[in-house]
Amino acid sequence: MITAPARPRKGRYYFDRAAETMPREELERLQLKRLRAMLKNAYTNVPLHRRRMDATRVEPRDIRTLTDLRALHFTEKSDLRDHYPFGMFARPREKVVRVHASSGTTGKPTVVGYTANDISTWADLMARTMACAGARPGDVIHNAYGYGLFTGGLGAHYGAERLGATVVPMSGGNAERQILLMQDFGARVLCATPSYALAIAEVAEKQGIDLRRSKLEIGVFGAEPCSEAMRKELDERLGIKAVDIYGLSEIIGPGVAAECDARDGLHGWEDHFLFELVDPDTGRPVPEGEAGELVITTLTKEALPMIRYRTRDITCLTRERCGCGRSHVRIRRITGRSDDMLIIRGVNVYPSQVESVLVGMPDIAPHYQLVVERDGSLDRMTIEVEAAPAVAAETYSRVAAAVGHHIKSMIGVTVDVKVKAPGEIPRSQGKAVRVRDLRPKGE
Ligand SMILES: [Zn+2]
Repeated sequence: MITAPARPRKGRYYFDRAAETMPREELERLQLKRLRAMLKNAYTNVPLHRRRMDATRVEPRDIRTLTDLRALHFTEKSDLRDHYPFGMFARPREKVVRVHASSGTTGKPTVVGYTANDISTWADLMARTMACAGARPGDVIHNAYGYGLFTGGLGAHYGAERLGATVVPMSGGNAERQILLMQDFGARVLCATPSYALAIAEVAEKQGIDLRRSKLEIGVFGAEPCSEAMRKELDERLGIKAVDIYGLSEIIGPGVAAECDARDGLHGWEDHFLFELVDPDTGRPVPEGEAGELVITTLTKEALPMIRYRTRDITCLTRERCGCGRSHVRIRRITGRSDDMLIIRGVNVYPSQVESVLVGMPDIAPHYQLVVERDGSLDRMTIEVEAAPAVAAETYSRVAAAVGHHIKSMIGVTVDVKVKAPGEIPRSQGKAVRVRDLRPKGE
């Protein structure tokens, strides 16, 4: 009989202990060394960065401390679009072994590129991310992130392999088949968007399958903001520990930050990225502990070095020591992107705020869509929710009134609420569509 290799389940496990627990002084020395090399690469090889550095009269050799970084220009998503497709690459196209692209809601996608070294770095970072979330070598990792131009699928795939797990490359869609293979192959880890994980949970329940009794223990969830309420829902319905991971294709893809088992902020991998928070309006740094827009500088990317990238994600940072032993900064879970903010009758509303109020309310299922329309000069929002299966149709108007009242008292905004029958809200096949924006375009 062949015995399985011992699984390092008990006690502390790190994919890269030396890097993850590196003392801060040493970490900062490494960051500065890598920052200077990255800036040289960007200045020499990317005309946009050279032009902007020349305009601000800052050259790579002027950067002598990490705070000197603040003298440098920002980079934005529109820069990638303006230099579509390969204009921001710091390597000739022949040295770029892979491209990914994000679907833009308007116009051209943003294209990102990787050298062979970049792909290897990414695999290491995703392996580290998975291990931080609780995955271990030898696990069966069921990967339901979409494969293709989206970075989620292949990012998780390479990371799971690098960790030494058995990866099941499912991609999204066909929840019945996902459930069958998760059970038959004995998946311990599910990688998916939170909305798709919820869709899987629902289909399993309909089939009379209790995934809480399967081998599934951990959900590695990312690519969408997920409220604490939704996390609790996923924990309970799948019988797992749902762990949040963070990343964006412009920086590398998933693998930028991950929660540890404390689930108290996501460790941002500081040996490969520099994290800053700025005031989204002025671009000035905000003090530690205060909320601001997350700005990320890559330290090791070859093909697409990124200087002070504006993520539009609003969060807080803490460098307090974490119980897991990792020394890397923690990013508070991201609940809203400044791009996603809606202004409804003068009140700023993030879709994720609505989610945290809705999920867990009695009489409704955790499926919703926000419909935004123009009403004269103001925006109006209708929240479409779904009745829980046991709720009688005659009581929908009462449920709608209760939801509207609850939203008003928790978020301070008046909304219309439409209660739909079970199954009427479209289910996520990957990335959920939470907002249907029916306002006239081009205003
Ligand atoms: Zn930790």
